Amino acid sequence: MNPWYAKAVILVSSAVMVIIRAPHGQRSRGVKVVKSGKGKLEILLLILAWLGFFVPFLWIATSRLAFADYPLRPVPYIAGILCLALGLWLFYRSHADLGTNWSITLEVREGHRLVTHGIYRHVRHPMYLALLLYSLGQALVIPNWVAGPSYLIAFGLLFVLRVGPEERFMREEFGQDYESYMARTKRLVPGLW
Ligand code: SAH
Repeated sequence: MNPWYAKAVILVSSAVMVIIRAPHGQRSRGVKVVKSGKGKLEILLLILAWLGFFVPFLWIATSRLAFADYPLRPVPYIAGILCLALGLWLFYRSHADLGTNWSITLEVREGHRLVTHGIYRHVRHPMYLALLLYSLGQALVIPNWVAGPSYLIAFGLLFVLRVGPEERFMREEFGQDYESYMARTKRLVPGLW
């Protein structure tokens, strides 16, 4: 298959992701941060995640990563599109439910409320699940050993190192409410983990 099929999918899905997030980013900038858990590690992880997200564009726009190309095949391509679509739908839902309580990093904003409704009724980290599915989709769709898994590795690392501190941060802020929320929900997969 022509690699441009993969390039087109990545361009469209990235644009959809930016369109979903843009209004939330803009709105949350207007809500004061009252407590921040953004340490050095968090900054490093965010930079890494951005780099991981942009490597596919380097693959699309230049031939620098051509040494790691392999042929595009229909089965991973279709499976990847399904992961991307599911990831984007979850990304949309979790943003809609989290509203102004969303932050790109660990932060408590003015009037911050613990969200336990909508998609958050089923799992505690639907947005991270969305991004893991999205990055897995990229790894399947992009026929390149560097650009394919770059976001999956970067975001996977961010997820692994952030999820524990984030839950501690939420427990400090919401106490018993977060603890009982934890007792009735799983992190990523309903009924499993
Ligand atoms: N981990 C969540 C949210 C990611 S956004 C998810 O994957 O869906 C990260 C911000 O969301 C953090 O600053 C944290 O303060 C906030 N947050 C996380 N869970 C929350 C919840 N259930 N209700 C309100 N805010 C939450």
